[in-house]
Amino acid sequence: LERTVVILGNGFVEFQDQMGDDQCVADAARVSKLGESKGEESDRKLIHYLMKHGHSTPFEQVELKFRIKCPLFVRSQIMRHRTFSYNEMSRRYTSENIDFYIPEYFRKQAETNKQSSLEDSKIEYIIDDIPLMPPQPVKEFVKKIAEDACYNYYLMLDNGVSREQARMVLPINMNTMFIMKGNLKNWFHFLGLRTREDAQWETRQVAIAVENFIMDSVPCCYEAWALYRKDKE
Ligand SMILES: Cc1cc2nc3c(=O)[nH]c(=O)nc-3n(C[C@H](O)[C@H](O)[C@H](O)COP(=O)(O)OP(=O)(O)OC[C@H]3O[C@@H](n4cnc5c(N)ncnc54)[C@H](O)[C@@H]3O)c2cc1C
Repeated sequence: LERTVVILGNGFVEFQDQMGDDQCVADAARVSKLGESKGEESDRKLIHYLMKHGHSTPFEQVELKFRIKCPLFVRSQIMRHRTFSYNEMSRRYTSENIDFYIPEYFRKQAETNKQSSLEDSKIEYIIDDIPLMPPQPVKEFVKKIAEDACYNYYLMLDNGVSREQARMVLPINMNTMFIMKGNLKNWFHFLGLRTREDAQWETRQVAIAVENFIMDSVPCCYEAWALYRKDKE
């Protein structure tokens, strides 16, 4: 796998670091009996046993770290997961490299689930009731809002307004970047919640990218989790 996967047009998920692997989970479980590994197949069986019966602490021995670039509204959902360590870029420090997530198309509001959108639906145009204003493609409409916000932001900075206040005019589709580190048990919990169909599509793209890296880096733990726990997180 490449270490970086592009998501949401100009965002990314970058696999940065890992401590521990499948073997280390099995070793951690065996320490209670001072046992030693009897080979890959017995480690695999042990990992499946641990996962199936909810013996979760050995999975905490593996740590994984990612760098994520995504819009602010996705970041807010991700950072509700309190068991991770985060460090994020700060718009108090820098006014550089501002860019925005502009989706290819916009989804309609779901009627039954008040939080969700209809994934196969598309809103094509914004129609305003200003006389003579033609319908505008939604993507262009949102792009213009972001460009105007950016212009006004720099105008405020040019007039001496502090970065920490001027940033309030920037919309929440602005991208941010942060590092997120946590143990495998908590990553699995995060994946269970954020790859589900009721999670917001944009946030799901981050989770799916993380899931693909985890699938590759701890294949046996991932296999056991997908089998026994994924639907129960
Ligand atoms: C589809 C979806 C919709 C959501 N909608 C909303 C919403 O409308 N409004 C909203 O506010 N949030 C919403 N959330 C966020 C949700 O309530 C959780 O904050 C988020 O999913 C993090 O889950 P968590 O607390 O289990 O994870 P983490 O914070 O990573 O915690 C992992 C586990 O550690 C334990 N834990 C951590 N901290 C504590 C604590 N202080 N006390 C006790 N146990 C703790 C719990 O067992 C927890 O499950 C939504 C989440 C999803 C997936």
